[in-house]
Amino acid sequence: MRVTLLINLVYIASAIMFIYGLKLLTSPVTARRGNFISAVGMFLAVVVTLASEDIIDYKLIALGVIVGGLIGGFFARLVQMTQMPEMVALFNGFGGIASLLVGWATYHALGLYNLFIMTTLFLAVLIGGVTFSGSIIAWGKLSEMITGKPVLFRGQTILNGLIFVCALMGGSFFIANPAEGYPVLIGIIILSLLLGVLVVIPIGGADMPVVISLLNSYSGIAACSAGLAISNNILIVSGALVGASGIILTNVMCKAMNRSLYNVLFGGFGAVTKEAGASFEGEVKAISPEDTYYILEAACSAVIVPGYGIAVAQAQHAVRELADLLEENGAEVRYAIHPVAGRMPGHMNVLLAEADVPYEKLIEMEEINRSIANIDVCVVVGANDIVNPAAREDASSSIYGMPIIEVDRAKTVIVLKRSMAPGFAGIDNSLFYKENTRMLFGDAKSSIEAVVSQFKSV
Ligand code: NDP
Repeated sequence: MRVTLLINLVYIASAIMFIYGLKLLTSPVTARRGNFISAVGMFLAVVVTLASEDIIDYKLIALGVIVGGLIGGFFARLVQMTQMPEMVALFNGFGGIASLLVGWATYHALGLYNLFIMTTLFLAVLIGGVTFSGSIIAWGKLSEMITGKPVLFRGQTILNGLIFVCALMGGSFFIANPAEGYPVLIGIIILSLLLGVLVVIPIGGADMPVVISLLNSYSGIAACSAGLAISNNILIVSGALVGASGIILTNVMCKAMNRSLYNVLFGGFGAVTKEAGASFEGEVKAISPEDTYYILEAACSAVIVPGYGIAVAQAQHAVRELADLLEENGAEVRYAIHPVAGRMPGHMNVLLAEADVPYEKLIEMEEINRSIANIDVCVVVGANDIVNPAAREDASSSIYGMPIIEVDRAKTVIVLKRSMAPGFAGIDNSLFYKENTRMLFGDAKSSIEAVVSQFKSV
């Protein structure tokens, strides 16, 4: 009894640390501390859980910790910044399968079946299974192991609906007849895994950030259900926190793309790609690093708009150096951050933080758009979709209505990229043909370094 009380008291402390940690994560200045406090909370929760009288086999737990810890630690060190979304997708998937396994094992461990436990166990298995296989497909799409294009076929939504209804009917039978329900539970596991695959394949690669945060939320709900099934308070709390924050992030990302969640899940965005080389008025005007230097040298205000290419080129340090030189030259320099720039939420913030760019220089999209017409130069570093005016101008475009950083309204725009290739959404960009746009072709890091050396040579 005393041990249980102690465990629950530590769980309360851990829950407070999770919530306080989440609060600190809301600002880049305190995020590192927030992460640390939450991690300490989780560590304490794990340690006291090991003191529980219900533990059956410490050797197996130790084996799991060692093998899992080594694999996790090894891959976390190895993974490139650009592969972080894939890693998050896998984490979600493992969270889902863990809940499924907890639910499954609980069925075997139970001597006595009750309605509440059976219901939560069923939910942990169903949602955990969908999360696992859905996350594996999301990982495959992001790592380009499987096509990033939506895989659509006739009657897909009806088939998914039927599978879901079958799983629910199976669940009702299982809850009502737990003693004979084992084969049905196995059927539910298979259906949940199938459903996860089928709900994610119709979603295009460009929508993966939303799907990943949604799957993150599912993994939390599955963990919460598993926690209810085994009456573990900290699993309930942490699952609920992950579930709720995942839903909030999903909502934020949908808003940033001006899409409803329904459209993301069933819209098949990106299935039909416009042919490259769509005809736009105007011509593409290439610029050299020398001429870029002259434009930047004369600018009083500059806004840097980073996108996925800054991560590929690892140009963040060179960009910071250029910004410092511009400031020394008397210009005001800020960074405009689009919520879905890059390949994961917060991707640009992480990169710029790595180069010690002061947080107060990072400006949100809405704010910069209000004053962008007065900006002398916008330097677009490896961004494409997030500055595509088609979102505003072309009602037939698949990104029409998505909020963008309206760099085309600045006095001059310099776009750094290697070619005329489209971005993640696979559509052409009229920005490159605008009168006030100059294209500085080449790897972003090399291009910036070439401009920096111009500044230094004078
Ligand atoms: P985009 O994918 O639209 O464009 C990136 C551009 O970077 C490309 O056009 C590419 O052009 C250029 N690039 C690549 N490598 C280099 C390099 N070494 N040097 C210079 N340029 C380079 O990225 P954005 O950030 O503008 O937009 C993000 C897109 O990704 C959106 O469609 C968003 O929905 C989607 N997305 C976002 C996620 C998120 O969570 N933030 C996750 C997954 C997708 P070129 O090949 O010619 O060099």
